[in-house]
Amino acid sequence: MHRVYLDNNATTPLLPEVFEAMRPYFGESFGNASSIHHHGQETRAAVENARESVAKLLGCAAAEVIFTSGGTEGDNLAIAGLVNSGDHVITSSIEHHAVLHAAKHLEEMGCQVTVLPVDGRCLIDPRDVRRALRPKTKLVSIMMANNETGVVQPVEEIGKIAAEAGVLFHTDAVQAAGKVPIDVKKIGCHALTISGHKLHGPQGTGVLYLKKGTELRPLFYGGRHERSRRAGTENVPGIVGLGKAAELATAALVRGDDKKMASMRDRLQRGILAQVEEAGVNGDAAARVPNTTNIRFDHVEGESLVIALDLRGLAVSTGAACSSGAIEPSHVLIAMGLRAEQARASIRFSLGKQTREEDINFGLSVVLETVRRLRELSPRYKKQAVST
Ligand code: PLP
Repeated sequence: MHRVYLDNNATTPLLPEVFEAMRPYFGESFGNASSIHHHGQETRAAVENARESVAKLLGCAAAEVIFTSGGTEGDNLAIAGLVNSGDHVITSSIEHHAVLHAAKHLEEMGCQVTVLPVDGRCLIDPRDVRRALRPKTKLVSIMMANNETGVVQPVEEIGKIAAEAGVLFHTDAVQAAGKVPIDVKKIGCHALTISGHKLHGPQGTGVLYLKKGTELRPLFYGGRHERSRRAGTENVPGIVGLGKAAELATAALVRGDDKKMASMRDRLQRGILAQVEEAGVNGDAAARVPNTTNIRFDHVEGESLVIALDLRGLAVSTGAACSSGAIEPSHVLIAMGLRAEQARASIRFSLGKQTREEDINFGLSVVLETVRRLRELSPRYKKQAVST
């Protein structure tokens, strides 16, 4: 069966060059990077090389790169590691659960948390950040790009507000890395999270950038790995893969591959809007990362659409989460002001480095046909169509 994968915000396929770079570290180059003999020196050099590549992608010094097990760990490390009981933290309603649930845990530990709203464009107003500041505010954590809509937040403005107030700023850049340029100095952040598997690197790898001089309480206690900021023997093959993925992402941004991706994404979106009635884009009134579009197909159940598309070979997703047996609409779309049924009718399409023009053609034809068929079967849609 012909299959097309348009769910790259969930995870991206490992690029062949990344796999090749990792291969020796599963075999002959197996040393513990902390060992002082030849085997250890070989893997230590590979880890430090990867650290340089990530530092280039983020515009920071290599010593400011902490390797982690992924985006979830990076977010937790920043949030739990930068605040103390009694501190106040500002975050937003559209963060990934890795941030929102970590913030909830902080509340249970005696912190105060303010969760800022977004507008209908999925944008946080930096003035709301300023208004939320309190004498005890220690940290602002606002994501760089949203995973469901792709909307890019005004992180530089937020960074300035945090700097003026003398508070720390963390940004979850998991969905921004490799898609838009990142420069931690321009953003003015103290901490920034990325995840390997969202930029064609391996799953279970990630980085927390931590600005030099920023004090951090580690999540794990153990050896002095990663300058005592993240104990545990380094995942050398994973780190090497993430380094290679970062190197390829930097080169792709320099080449301008993001513009090609945006043009394919826009063609998919235009094609759908031109041919499907009662469809709309969530979040297209703001700047977005080039690979994502979130489309609402009124009178269609998103979960049913995802399954029907999968049966025809197209992989996409909804932002809905299954909680206690019920399908909860996406918290991001609800925060933007969508009604529950509109949020449930929304689908995320996300392109990757391996997406081709013919994949867009395939996606378009399958979506048009499947939405038409599902609506024909929907009593709600028929009733509505007759009454209008
Ligand atoms: N933050 C955002 C914005 C994400 O999209 C994700 C994953 O979907 C994460 C954090 C968690 O990353 P990981 O899967 O590497 O734990």
